[in-house]
Amino acid sequence: MTTPTYYHAFTSKHERRPPLNDEITADICIIGGGLTGISAALHLAERGYDTVLLEAGRIGDGASGRNGGQICMGYGCGMEAFERISGLESAKNFWGMSSEAIEDIQSRISRHGIQADYKRGYIHAALNSRQERGLQEMAQSWSGTYGFTDLELLSRAETEEATGSRLYCASLLEQGSGHMNPLAYLHGLEEAARNAGARIFEDSRAIAIEKGATATIATGNGRVRARMLVLAGNAYLDDLVPEIRYRVAPVLSAVAATAPLSADQAARILPGDEAVADSNTALNYFRKTVDNRLLFGGLASYSGRPITNAADTLRRRMVKVYPDLSTIAIDHAWSGKIAITANRMPDFGRLGSNIYYAQGFSGHGLALTGLAGKLIAEAVAGDAERFDTFARLPNLRFPGGPARTAVLALGMAWFKMRDLLGLSK
Ligand SMILES: Cc1cc2nc3c(=O)[nH]c(=O)nc-3n(C[C@H](O)[C@H](O)[C@H](O)COP(=O)(O)OP(=O)(O)OC[C@H]3O[C@@H](n4cnc5c(N)ncnc54)[C@H](O)[C@@H]3O)c2cc1C
Repeated sequence: MTTPTYYHAFTSKHERRPPLNDEITADICIIGGGLTGISAALHLAERGYDTVLLEAGRIGDGASGRNGGQICMGYGCGMEAFERISGLESAKNFWGMSSEAIEDIQSRISRHGIQADYKRGYIHAALNSRQERGLQEMAQSWSGTYGFTDLELLSRAETEEATGSRLYCASLLEQGSGHMNPLAYLHGLEEAARNAGARIFEDSRAIAIEKGATATIATGNGRVRARMLVLAGNAYLDDLVPEIRYRVAPVLSAVAATAPLSADQAARILPGDEAVADSNTALNYFRKTVDNRLLFGGLASYSGRPITNAADTLRRRMVKVYPDLSTIAIDHAWSGKIAITANRMPDFGRLGSNIYYAQGFSGHGLALTGLAGKLIAEAVAGDAERFDTFARLPNLRFPGGPARTAVLALGMAWFKMRDLLGLSK
């Protein structure tokens, strides 16, 4: 489909599932074999629903198999947005669900014996005093308002020791977030979903949907008739369901994996094995892999144009953080589509009474996709309270419709300028 990732090269091979070549019926049909769709399949099959999942290519071809592997607490919009929009008590409820999403990853890994190289620990790094103040406020909010105290503000010297980089003036180290191999995790969940009874078809793009009390979903060579439909194609769904297309904008992001670091470099760079993100709007994020490569991401294209020369551009950004990596080989570089919403809150909802969708995780999908799958299963089973809590969030369509990526690119140029001027926090 697109450039293979580091994960595809180093994650154990996953057996190809057959395409759909038949007319079949099911309780539920899910479109999309990323973390949202596979999580929904697992939860629904565990609840006893006859569940079918259609994936256009291979499981993990979308963002779920191509991301930075950073598991982040909270939401892309920050907790203040929830406080402003829905009040403090409701914000605490959203915080609780984001913590639950991370706990669910840990319990799935241990329940299904998934080898996903999961690690706890995350460093939010400040590039200037304005960002440092932002991190202090964040620490205050997380511990004071939400009771999360496993965090520590680090000075410049402590940050240098923790990251092995002199670039940052301060940081917030917290133990709620972490990192893992997302493709290995996804494959493990897929096995678990199949073991629970879900039928999974690869190379089976849904090309048409006929809505109704029973929905009919057509692929090139088959057809599924199902009482319920779950749309989990996120930034890759394109025009299949026009009603939800303009509620998100696809943003291309790129990641590079270096050759293995030398023993010296590996000991100095991130000795505590945390993941890192800086506080710019157009941010850099990085971490070490289990075989001691630096996985460095952050280049983003908001215009819809493909990212060319990702390896060179990411290397330039990486060398600003770690000057002595200027000659290290970049073994893998790839990109993928993130779906973001206008207010960076996830976008869950229904079309009619029997079609559910969840999309627009705005860079926090590694944890929130699992929650999305779980809440869809709860709603299908008759308890829609938590799904509807998300569905009520005020997500607006992007201005510009088909031209929204151009509008977004213009907006991001403004934010990038603020990053350069040190005005982001
Ligand atoms: C480069 C990159 C770095 C990222 N880094 C991070 C990170 O560090 N931390 C984090 O939390 N998030 C990160 N993200 C975002 C995160 O990966 C996503 O939020 C998450 O994976 C979304 O999962 P999903 O299942 O909703 O969508 P996807 O994983 O994109 O899956 C959608 C699937 O639907 C399939 N599909 C689409 N249309 C059809 C159709 N018509 N028929 C059948 N199948 C269809 C696609 O082929 C695809 O496999 C990153 C994303 C990218 C691209």
